[in-house]
Amino acid sequence: MSFVWTIAEHHAGRLREVALEVLGRGRPLADALGTRLAAVVIGHGITEQDTGRLIAHGADEVYVVDDPRLADFRCESYSGVLAHLIRTWSPEIVLAAATTSGRTLMPHLAIRVHAGLTADCTELAIEPDTGNLLQTRPAIGGNIMATIKTPRHRPQMATVRPHASRPPQPDPDRSGRVIAVPMDTQLEACLDDRTQVLGYRTDAADFANLEDADVVVTGGRGLKRKENFALLEELASRLGGEIGATREAVDRGWIGYPHQVGLSGKTISPRVYIGAGASGSIQHLAGIKTSERIVSINLDPDAPLHRVADVAVVGDLFEVVPALIAELDRRRGAARSGD
Ligand SMILES: Cc1cc2nc3c(=O)[nH]c(=O)nc-3n(C[C@H](O)[C@H](O)[C@H](O)COP(=O)(O)OP(=O)(O)OC[C@H]3O[C@@H](n4cnc5c(N)ncnc54)[C@H](O)[C@@H]3O)c2cc1C
Repeated sequence: MSFVWTIAEHHAGRLREVALEVLGRGRPLADALGTRLAAVVIGHGITEQDTGRLIAHGADEVYVVDDPRLADFRCESYSGVLAHLIRTWSPEIVLAAATTSGRTLMPHLAIRVHAGLTADCTELAIEPDTGNLLQTRPAIGGNIMATIKTPRHRPQMATVRPHASRPPQPDPDRSGRVIAVPMDTQLEACLDDRTQVLGYRTDAADFANLEDADVVVTGGRGLKRKENFALLEELASRLGGEIGATREAVDRGWIGYPHQVGLSGKTISPRVYIGAGASGSIQHLAGIKTSERIVSINLDPDAPLHRVADVAVVGDLFEVVPALIAELDRRRGAARSGD
C-alpha cells in the first residue's frame, strides 16, 4: 500500500491556501504511482468546509488531527504527531510547503522517522523504472539544477517552494474519505507540554506581504541610492502594491530582507510584477516566474528581465517611473471628473 501525503497547513483556525498548492504537486505523483493522495491537517477548529476544499483540490483522503493543544504550530508536537501517523500508515512520499513552519517542521520530522529531506524543490517527478521520487532543486547558487533521489529510505520527504506553482482547479464533484484521527494515549504522548504560546505579533516595522500581493514593484541596483526607493513606493501606492527588491539592493542596506525576491528571498506570484533597475539574474527570476504579467524597466536592451517580460521598457527608470505615476494620476483625475 503506497501513499503520497501532503501536509496541509492550518493556522489561526483557517486552512492556508498553500495547502492546495502542495496538493497540486502531489496529484501527478500519486497518479504516476497509481496510488492515493492524502492531505494531513493538524490544528484546531478544522471544518467540513476545510476537508471538502482539500478533497475538491485533489485529496483522496484527509487525515484530521484536531485538538485545542494543536491550535498553534509547535514543532515538537506537530512532528511528534506526524511521526506517529507515518509509522502507522507508512506513506511512500511526504510533501510540505517550504513556508516558515514547513521549513521548521520537516527537518525535525525527517530526523524522527530516519528519512532524508530535500528542501525547496522546484520540480518533482516519479522515476519510471523504480518509482522513486525525483526531487529537483537549484544548487550551487542556482547555476545548476540538481536531481536527488532517496532509494533506500522511506518516506521520501521534500518541501516545495510556496507560490512556485498555482493551486489546481477545484472539482466540487470529487469525493474522498475523511479520517478523524482520535487523540488516544499514544498521540497524547506526542504532544509537547513544555512550550506555551502566548500569542503572535507581526513585525510591523518592516513587514512585507509580498506573497499575497496583487502588484509587486521591485527595485534593483539601478535605483542607485536607498532614497530612490521612495519613487517606487509612490508607484506602488497608486497600484495598491508592495515593494520588492533584488538581493543587490538588500545587501547594500537600501531596504530590509523581508522585501527580497528570488532564490534566497521570497517566491511571489502577483498579477503584475514591475522590475525597475533589476537585471533579472537567474536567482531573481527564480522568485518571479509564476507572476501573471512581468513589466521590466531597464536601460540595457539585453537585460535578461526584458527577455522574460510581457512588457519591456528600454529606458531610464528615473524618467519612466515618474511618467507612469503622472499617467496614473491623470487617469484617476479624468475618472473623477467623469471625462
Ligand atoms: C546563492 C545566491 C543566491 C542569490 N539570491 C538572490 C535572490 O534571492 N534575489 C536576487 O535578486 N538576487 C539573488 N542573488 C544575486 C544575483 O546573482 C544578482 O547579483 C542580483 O539579482 C542582481 O541584482 P540587480 O538586478 O539589482 O543588480 P544588477 O545585476 O547590477 O542590475 C542592475 C540593473 O539596473 C540597470 N540600470 C542601471 N541604471 C538604470 C536606470 N537609470 N534605469 C533603468 N535601469 C537601470 C542596469 O542596466 C542593470 O541591468 C543571489 C546570488 C547567489 C550567488
